[in-house]
Amino acid sequence: RPAFVRSPLHALPDAVAERIAAGEVIERPVSVVKELLENALDAGAQDIRIEVRGGGLRLIRVIDDGYGIPASELAAVCIRHTTSKIVAFEDLDHLATLGFRGEALASIATVAEVTIQSRVRGTSDEEPASWATWRGGKLEERGLRARPEGTTVTVTDLFYNVPARLSYTRAARTENGHIVQLVRRYALGYAGVRFSLALDEHMAVQTSGSGDLATTLTELYHLALDEMVQEIQASDGQHYVLRGYIGNRVLAQGSRQYINLFVNGRWVQSRTLQDALERGYRSLLPKGKHPLLVLAIEVPPHELDVNVHPAKTEVHLLQEAIITEAITQAVKAVLERSPALPEAVQFP
Ligand code: ADP
Ligand code: MG
Repeated sequence: RPAFVRSPLHALPDAVAERIAAGEVIERPVSVVKELLENALDAGAQDIRIEVRGGGLRLIRVIDDGYGIPASELAAVCIRHTTSKIVAFEDLDHLATLGFRGEALASIATVAEVTIQSRVRGTSDEEPASWATWRGGKLEERGLRARPEGTTVTVTDLFYNVPARLSYTRAARTENGHIVQLVRRYALGYAGVRFSLALDEHMAVQTSGSGDLATTLTELYHLALDEMVQEIQASDGQHYVLRGYIGNRVLAQGSRQYINLFVNGRWVQSRTLQDALERGYRSLLPKGKHPLLVLAIEVPPHELDVNVHPAKTEVHLLQEAIITEAITQAVKAVLERSPALPEAVQFP
């Protein structure tokens, strides 16, 4: 380790602070896809198209048909802590969006080149839409150009100015794998939205947005899964509603990656919730096996704290004990009724 030489206490220049903060939100290419997808969903998109090239380092593009960004606001969207989603801290008590920190676009624009084109829903066709390009956190160019309603965000040259992050980024195959998993997850969490993901021009994910979870599962895994899943439904009419599907025992896999948990529309990674699930299925599945599961947990917004982690994949539940017990019981009850077939099915 190089010897530490203390400098006098001083404020970091904005550009340095920006780049440090960006690293927290944008860990690897899939983080960019996640943030752009969440923005599209927050904008009420019904159709989201994603293109990825070179594992996300060369290009990530998300095209949505959401409500768009007014031309007068476009130049400001890449400024840190600039958001249209909350006004006061108290708004977190009744949050209706996935985003709220106003950090994602600022972070991405700091470590890549970003171009956004957008036309606000309901504006006339003749009205030109606006576009702007940022590089290394700076607004470089902007203009007007016709385009359909909605927003296109294009990210190129990711991590061009963060060599350490660039060398940490794995082969395109690995990064693509993470991206496919992420898009599948959102397709399951938002079955009413049509998703497509093209990896280097190869169509990797395509859903119809039918709104039906069993159909979505079939579209994602190319297996007639609707025959092999059972519905989960439970509620105490006060603290929680659980809704989802769990695969029959025959679909159990040697990995937890087919477990999808959502809390108020937010995909979460939670040790506590995972443990609650495992208590439900442990005695019913072979050791080391995990179910295919999609579970949407709805709780009153004021009983949920999403402000835990920059990537927002962790949450705190006020009524955690009640909810974890409900999850354990619901999973157990459904799985007990599921037939155990002799042959296991392997996912593609
Ligand atoms: P946050 O989502 O936390 O508000 P972001 O940096 O992700 O922060 O986005 C900043 C703002 O840019 C959003 O609040 C929203 O107003 C606007 N925005 C970003 N992406 C889109 C999109 N796809 N459609 C409409 N508005 C968008
Ligand atoms: Mg956002």
